[in-house]
Amino acid sequence: MSATPHHYCIRLKNPGAHLFEVRLLVARPDPAGQVFSIPAWIPGSYMIRDYARHVVSIRAEADDLEVELTKVDKSSWQAAACALPLTLIAEIYAHEQNVRGAHLDTTHAYFNGPCVFPAVVGQEDHACELDIQAPEKSSASDWRVVTSMRAKSASKYGFGSYEAENYAELIDHPVQIGDLAIGEFEANGIPHTIAIRGRTRADMGRICHDLSAVCEQHMRLMSAPEDLDRYVFLLTALGEGYGGLEHRWSSSLICARDDLPKKGDTGVDKRYRKFLGLCSHEYFHLWNVKRMKPEVFTPYDLRKESYTGLLWVFEGVTSYYDNLALVRSELITADSYLETLAKTITRVLRTRGRFKQSIEESSFDAWTKLYKQDANSSNATISYYTKGSLIALTLDLMLRLESNGKCTLDTVMRECWQQFGETGSGMPERGLESVASRLSGTDLGDFFTRYVRGTHELPLEQLLGKFGVKLCLRPSEGRRDMGGKAAKPGRKLPPWLGATLVNRNGSAVFSVVHADSPAERAGIAAADEAVAIDGLKVTPRNIDSRLKGYHAGDKARISVFRGDELLTCTVRLEEPPADTCYLELVADVDKSVEQRRTAWLSGA
Ligand SMILES: [Zn+2]
Repeated sequence: MSATPHHYCIRLKNPGAHLFEVRLLVARPDPAGQVFSIPAWIPGSYMIRDYARHVVSIRAEADDLEVELTKVDKSSWQAAACALPLTLIAEIYAHEQNVRGAHLDTTHAYFNGPCVFPAVVGQEDHACELDIQAPEKSSASDWRVVTSMRAKSASKYGFGSYEAENYAELIDHPVQIGDLAIGEFEANGIPHTIAIRGRTRADMGRICHDLSAVCEQHMRLMSAPEDLDRYVFLLTALGEGYGGLEHRWSSSLICARDDLPKKGDTGVDKRYRKFLGLCSHEYFHLWNVKRMKPEVFTPYDLRKESYTGLLWVFEGVTSYYDNLALVRSELITADSYLETLAKTITRVLRTRGRFKQSIEESSFDAWTKLYKQDANSSNATISYYTKGSLIALTLDLMLRLESNGKCTLDTVMRECWQQFGETGSGMPERGLESVASRLSGTDLGDFFTRYVRGTHELPLEQLLGKFGVKLCLRPSEGRRDMGGKAAKPGRKLPPWLGATLVNRNGSAVFSVVHADSPAERAGIAAADEAVAIDGLKVTPRNIDSRLKGYHAGDKARISVFRGDELLTCTVRLEEPPADTCYLELVADVDKSVEQRRTAWLSGA
C-alpha cells in the first residue's frame, strides 16, 4: 500500500503585507505527536539561513478543533498526540528578493520550497501534492504560474494542483507567479521554458535560440539524464542584480535587464555574455551537484551544516565549463572566452588568501567563510568558484597534454557522472582524484596535494603556452580594471597603495587593506574613513588621479577618521604588482599546438 500523499496548499494571503498562508494536511500523523520542521538552509547555498524565522504564526487543527502545537527548537514544532488527519496552518513572511528566498508583493509571487513548506518529520518519503491558489484580486487575472513541478490537474502555466514524489523533490521546484514573459524551446528534443519577470524589451526569440545551443552543448558533453524530461529557467530581470541557484529540473536567476539583448541587437557583448554564462553555469549543475552530489549530500541534512571538501568540484568545475560551453557552442569567439578566463585569473591573483587557504579548506569552511565575507576575507580565504575553475582548467590542460588528447577533464567528468551520478551513490571525498588517476593512468596524488589540499601557485602560464595561449601580466590601471585586456598605450599608472576605497553611506571608507601592502605597513585599517592625501580631499572617484601625482618610493600623508578620531598615516608608495592578466592567442604555432588548442576550445 502506498503512503497517503501530504497535501500542501499555498495561498497569496496578503500581498501588501508579504504574507503567504500555507496549509498542510497530514492524513496519518505520528500517533506519538507529529513533528514538523522547516529547513535551516537551501541546497546550493551553503549557509545556515533558518527559514523558520519567517514564520509569523503557526497552529494545528484536527476535525476543526485546535490541536496543541509546541515549539521544540528554532525550526521545529510538535503537535499533541492525535489520531485524526492533522492540518498545520502557517503564515509566512516573504519579502526577500533573491534566488534562495521567497518574495510576495502586489506585483508577483516567488518562492523556494524550503522557505515555505514544513517537512512532516519521519514521513519525508511520502508523495506531496501542492495546490497553488489563484489570488482573488482581478488585477492579477493575467498572472501565470511557472515551475518545473509536474502539474496534477493544473493547466499549463495555471494555478491549481501540482505533485512531487517526496518532500526533497517538493522543495526543489521554485515557483514564479505573476505577469511573466514566457519563451519555449527544445534542446535535444526536451522541452525547455524560460519565464522572465520584470519589465524588459528582451528579444525572447534570440534568448531561446542561444540557450538552446548552450543546453545542447552541455548535453553533448555529459549526455541527458534519463529523468530530464523538462527544464525551466526562472529569471527575474532587475535594474541591477546577478545571481543564480540550481535545481534538478530548473534554475532561478537574477540579472540586470540591460544584460538581455533587445530586438535588433547582434553579437554577444560583455553583458549578454555574463547572462549566458550564468544560464550555462546553472544548467551544468543539473548534472554536477543536483544529480551527482558529494556523498555527504545523499541525502541532504537540512537541519545543520553538511561539511565537504568537494564544493570546488561542484562549483569550480561548473564555473570552468560555464563560459567554455559558450565558446564550444560558437556563441562567443575564442578571444572573448580568453577575456573571461583572464578576468578570473586576475581575481585569483588579487586574492592573497590563496596562500593561506587551500581550495579544499575553502569548500569545507564555506558555511562560515565564503558565505560570511568580511574585510579580511581576501587576505585569508580564496573562493572555490574562481580558484576551483582554474584548478579544473589546469587539470584539463595537463591531462590533455600528457595523454595526447585521449584523457581530458571531459572524459573524467563523464566517468564521474556514470560512477557517482547515474548510480545515485554520490561522490566520495577523493572521488574525482581516483577517477582522474585511473583514467589517465597516472597517480595524480601530487597534483591534488599541491593544488587542492595545498596552496601552490598553478602552473597556468606554462600549460597555456603549450596550447598556443600566452599569459601576460601587467599592473592594474585603476579601480575599474578587472583584467582581460592588454594595457591601454601611454597610460600613466598610479603607484601602489594596497587598499580599496569605497563609498559607504556617503563616506569614503577603506573596505579592504591588502596583506603586505604599503597601506597595511602604514597602519591604515579596514573601516577607516579616508579624509585627505597630503591635505587634499580624497574620494573613491578621485583616489587614482590623486595617486598619479606620486611615484613609487614617494611618501604620502593619508588622513583618516578611525571612529571619530583623526589620524595621519604616512605611506611609502610602491611599484604596483603585476596582478592583472590578459591572454593572447599566439598566431603562428605548430600544427600540433594548433590541434591541441582547437580540441580544447571546441570540445571535439
Ligand atoms: Zn554554481
